[in-house]
Amino acid sequence: MQTPSSSLSYGTALTRGLRRRCPQCGIGTLLCGYLKPVTECEACKSDFSHISADDGPAWVTILVLGHVVVPLMLYFGRDDSIPLWIACAILSVIMLIGVYVILPRAKGLFIALIWMTGATGEDMAPNSLDQSDETHNRQ
Ligand SMILES: [Zn+2]
Repeated sequence: MQTPSSSLSYGTALTRGLRRRCPQCGIGTLLCGYLKPVTECEACKSDFSHISADDGPAWVTILVLGHVVVPLMLYFGRDDSIPLWIACAILSVIMLIGVYVILPRAKGLFIALIWMTGATGEDMAPNSLDQSDETHNRQ
């Protein structure tokens, strides 16, 4: 596992992740296709195979879009001049476009954050917990 260089700041790495670029070099892409993460950077060969963003990107997407859509839902709910089907159509389009734009960027951001911090969760896997219990019991 390649570690981030010491001169790399969190701001730079996270900005590169947000742009779906390698947090180390900023040249290679983090995602192939819409959401599939690459195993290593095509430019600098940084390893991303051990990183899994899990539900973090979806959580950020819902958090951001919720702050846009819920106020609009309240507005449309109070305004009787806008037909319900138009309100639903507008909200659906906003949600679809918002998810299309935000979700891959949030995934790049999470991959960059996990890569920078080394918080892959591998030490929390069930096998490693069993080993630590055995170590603890021996003492
Ligand atoms: Zn790279």
